[in-house]
Amino acid sequence: MKNFGKIQVFIPRSLCSIGKDINLKVNDEGLSAIEISWKNGLVTNIKPLNDKGKSNNQILFPRFVESHAHFDKSFSWVNFPNLKSNYENALSVNLEEHITRTTEKVIKRAEKSLELAINNGYRAIRTHIDTYPSQDEGIWSGIFNLRKKYSEYLELQFVALSPLELWSSENGELIAKKLAKNNGLLGGVLVPPFNKKTTKRLLVNMIRLAEKYSLEVDLHVDESSIEPGVGIKMLLQTIEQLNCEVSITCSHSSSLLLLKDKELSNLGKRISEKNIKIIALPLTNFWLLNRDNENSSLERPVAPVKQLQKAFVDVSIGSDNVQDPWYPFGNFDPFYLMSFAMPMLQLNPWDRLSLSALLIAPSRILKLKWDGIISIGSPADFVIVEGDKWADIFSGNLKRKVLINGRWN
Ligand SMILES: [Zn+2]
Repeated sequence: MKNFGKIQVFIPRSLCSIGKDINLKVNDEGLSAIEISWKNGLVTNIKPLNDKGKSNNQILFPRFVESHAHFDKSFSWVNFPNLKSNYENALSVNLEEHITRTTEKVIKRAEKSLELAINNGYRAIRTHIDTYPSQDEGIWSGIFNLRKKYSEYLELQFVALSPLELWSSENGELIAKKLAKNNGLLGGVLVPPFNKKTTKRLLVNMIRLAEKYSLEVDLHVDESSIEPGVGIKMLLQTIEQLNCEVSITCSHSSSLLLLKDKELSNLGKRISEKNIKIIALPLTNFWLLNRDNENSSLERPVAPVKQLQKAFVDVSIGSDNVQDPWYPFGNFDPFYLMSFAMPMLQLNPWDRLSLSALLIAPSRILKLKWDGIISIGSPADFVIVEGDKWADIFSGNLKRKVLINGRWN
């Protein structure tokens, strides 16, 4: 099959790196018209098209990276709906789902998620997998096999999501060994109400285990509208005390938004110093947290993206759940996420930092070889959508083509 091509498109200027001596015009919405060529899976040339009419009504993005998914439970809403739509009931319905969970069901959900993700334009996904003692033993080997099966299309990373207690047990150590061989991470939940003494002890054990097997950690932290930032503060104290080098991601970090400006700015500095990465998950936070079915509320905790970026924290925006007890909507589509997250968080699509949180920071979180910036020599890995302005992208009726390693999908 042919592996070369040339196309005239608009590209967000901040996602394209081109020689300093080349003058690339940028329109008011931050888009530049270019002609891009590729051969054998790599970009071979980028030429400015300074005649606006030549973009052929197409906008090009690098393929996307999903920093936070749960494909072991996606599409389980049909059988396990959470009609109260709050956090507590989501958890209890999730636990009911565990009782009927089999390897076959999990792999079926995962493959449905992967097919959608590939066709919608993702090139890598970090997904959490619920991990608990009564779990069917075949689940992990089935999940690990998916990495190989889909490796041509996307990269996969798995986080074993479990109560923190697991990482203090023998079984936890066995799982950690398996994760070390399969690009896995240790996961857990750090949300109020806290028993601080117990939580700190469990955190120490978890971090030590991660250090022993050179694993990274990705925690669901402070996904709450109470006890602002208490989880992340405990985590910081623990790693400062252990003086360890474990790489840590804090997913959610929603209640940080409720801290006073000064406190948030100081906390942001400590997070940045320890190189802790944050994943904001606006869709599930807006849906579940501080929910009151009688009254609309302005208090909608979600990680304070702008304040954290100002403190030089590496912030990504992820999707979280898809059609499960935690969130009834979504379809592994980066443009669905983008078109809701930007108005919710008041992020301008023409600002570099907004696109960076959706496209570049997630590549760093997953430590991918390519950060997603398109330049000569970068992978020819694109999603090309019909349109010539952001309103077309956010129209909800998007036509797209996906190029994977120089070949149309
Ligand atoms: Zn999650």
